[in-house]
Amino acid sequence: MINVNKTYLPPQERYLAIVNRAWQKGWITNNGDLVRELEGELRQKLSLEHLLFTGNGTVVLQMALRAVGHAGGEIITTSYSYVATAHAIRWQGFTPVFVDIEPETYCINPLLVEAAITSRTKAILATHVYGMPCQTEALDALSRRFGIPVVYDAAHAFGTTWQGKSLLSYGHISTCSFHATKVFHTVEGGCIVCHNASLFAELEGYRQFGHNGDQHYSIGINGKNSEFHAAMGLAILPDFEQIVATRKQLFEQYKQALAHCKVRLLQPEASPGLQWNYAYFPVLFSSHPTMMAVKTALEAQQIFPRRYFYPALNTLPYYPQQYSCPVAEDAADRVLCLPFYTGLLPAELQQIVETVVPLTQL
Ligand SMILES: *Cc1c(COP(=O)(O)O)cnc(C)c1O
Repeated sequence: MINVNKTYLPPQERYLAIVNRAWQKGWITNNGDLVRELEGELRQKLSLEHLLFTGNGTVVLQMALRAVGHAGGEIITTSYSYVATAHAIRWQGFTPVFVDIEPETYCINPLLVEAAITSRTKAILATHVYGMPCQTEALDALSRRFGIPVVYDAAHAFGTTWQGKSLLSYGHISTCSFHATKVFHTVEGGCIVCHNASLFAELEGYRQFGHNGDQHYSIGINGKNSEFHAAMGLAILPDFEQIVATRKQLFEQYKQALAHCKVRLLQPEASPGLQWNYAYFPVLFSSHPTMMAVKTALEAQQIFPRRYFYPALNTLPYYPQQYSCPVAEDAADRVLCLPFYTGLLPAELQQIVETVVPLTQL
């Protein structure tokens, strides 16, 4: 069986040696040494001063939205992302206003964001889809002009550098996921990034139920993570550059093999200033039936690509208001993410492209 993703695991002895430190100390959660060490390493690696390690990449969306407004009002968001992005908006008591994406980047279209801004708008929540950057300059300009914060769901963006800085450094607040399926992971986990000390203190409070010992200052949530999860991050971090290099090679192999097919691939080379993390291998097929034919043919060989993202968020049945986002709906109909991970063997990649190519030359 070949899955869309296979979790990267570090050498077991390396993980055990790190986790053994928590064991010796008898301290396994609540801002332990390993959590703080991982935070230090991440801050240094990404050149970010204000970063917190958290339980996952969803609670950080909730924390970010709590920081920009206490419920009520609208959050302008993308129609093409994982459901967690939209759910966090509703969960926090806001109304999501879905806008369409740009066909080239799959990221939110700033012109449509501008058109959706009203007096009820509390914030913009945009996703760096597949680890490729949103139009950060245009969104920041809107943020300044209308005085509304931009939050980035940067769940895919760890390791991407954009115009000389980590992609996590953009926006009022950025959040990331370190889930086992992401390009860097801590089994479950995530982080939240901001740019000033007072907001950082607020987020730190949210992460631990809004109190510090006997000092109770706000409502909060459990956003913490454990020493076992931090240890996984510390064990994987030294391998990260090699992980990205290997993914880049796989990307080139796929790209070469699919060069003469009627498909569209991501084009990181078309964005000067971008050093991409090679997080996913999405393929846009020429039609929905072609995409489904490829999916069925691969599944018959126990190869499991994934429709990611499907469905377009604006079409989810439990959001009351209907929006039309034709570009996102079309992408959700035609995109398939092919298996893409460091352990994918050349023969496996070959088997995949031999199935895909004949079905895409019709
Ligand atoms: C994975 C993901 C999340 C959720 O992260 P978890 O760590 O699984 O909670 C949120 N947004 C996007 C775009 C994601 O891909």
